[in-house]
Amino acid sequence: MTGQGGQSGPTLMVVDDEDGVRDFIGEVARGVGYLVLEASLASGLREQCAAGTVEVVILDLRMPGIDGVAFLRELAEIGCRAHVLLISGTDRRVLGTAKRLGEQHGLSMLGALQKPIDIEELERLLKSVFVRPRAVTPDDLAAGIATGEFVIHYQPQMGLCESGTHQIRNLEALVRWNSAAHGFLPPDQFIPMAEDHGLIGALTDVVLEKTLFDLSVWHQGGHSVGVSINLSPALLGDPSLPDRIDAQLRMHQLPPRLLTLEITESGVMADVGLAMEVLTRFRLRGLGLSLDDFGTGYSSLAQLHRMPFSELKIDKSFVMGVGSDPDAAKLVRIITLLGHELGLVVCAEGIETPESLDYLREVRCDLAQGFLLGRPVPLDQLPI
Ligand code: C2E
Ligand code: MG
Ligand code: MG
Repeated sequence: MTGQGGQSGPTLMVVDDEDGVRDFIGEVARGVGYLVLEASLASGLREQCAAGTVEVVILDLRMPGIDGVAFLRELAEIGCRAHVLLISGTDRRVLGTAKRLGEQHGLSMLGALQKPIDIEELERLLKSVFVRPRAVTPDDLAAGIATGEFVIHYQPQMGLCESGTHQIRNLEALVRWNSAAHGFLPPDQFIPMAEDHGLIGALTDVVLEKTLFDLSVWHQGGHSVGVSINLSPALLGDPSLPDRIDAQLRMHQLPPRLLTLEITESGVMADVGLAMEVLTRFRLRGLGLSLDDFGTGYSSLAQLHRMPFSELKIDKSFVMGVGSDPDAAKLVRIITLLGHELGLVVCAEGIETPESLDYLREVRCDLAQGFLLGRPVPLDQLPI
């Protein structure tokens, strides 16, 4: 491994078995202001990443003796915080998939470039690191919760009538973080951190409080609309949760049937027995329970069988494909049938085109949600 350059900029490490590629990238990176470390083997990178001494890693996905994809997982496991840029002579789609895998592992993926590398694109990506906002920390999140930086956006769920009309039956509450330090952040950028650092309970309390307040205003105004909120499965280990939510509903004088809890089983449901107990107590109190993202990951038939759900939400990855992918269309039809056979309300999310809306109506799906019908918007922009 060689270190070069006398600058004091951020440190970048390039790992590639081709000398020419390392030299080329090293030159461009130094030009942009990096201190460059070069390595022909990935072992040096492990140490640097574990020690947190590199800000940017440029990694050749295909090197002799190394499985680049497995190596990404390893980087995540050692807690690599560097921005990772993948390079390879391989197919563009393979590179794109590898980048998405890195993101799924929680790595900060800067991009994926095909060889021969476009110098302008490389410079652009390397410069973008300088203007990237500082990474969000659990302390930032805790402070944001304490200072009330979270807002709720609502997305309509329409009842589908055979006549071709549709009306708002329910609203999904989706949280956003309007952070003074980091800007406006979508939930994917802070919910996993809230779950990992014991902050999801406090955040959910904020969401519940704001949502139930809004719901009570609609209810008093004579609107019979219901609301769904997303409940992290990490919270289902808390036996006091049904009573707490019940108390909030009573405080706002709201009938429990107006509230649905959407749950995605994500593997963090530590105690399945306790989760079943908590979910059953919610159902006994009259709340709706929805199995979110059905068909993906852990959101499975087994969950549907053992937990007392009242609704099934077909994941948007299937719904978005109904117009172009005959198999996705078949899955959507069969899942709707399955839900109805089990006596569940079926909701489809991710409806973006009139064709998919027509198809969902044809297969007799009950509720439809998607950008075509309405994006998530702040309260004052809702058409009710
Ligand atoms: P989700 O519960 O599956 O919510 C639906 C997501 O799909 C939302 O993303 C929504 O904006 C998006 N979506 C809806 N219709 C369409 C469409 O037609 N096309 C496309 N491409 N997307 C559509 P969002 O708001 O970014 O939320 C992402 C996830 O964050 C949610 O997925 C949910 O799992 C989680 N989340 C949101 N709010 C909360 C919360 O208060 N608590 C917890 N624990 N999780 C939350
Ligand atoms: Mg949801
Ligand atoms: Mg979903």
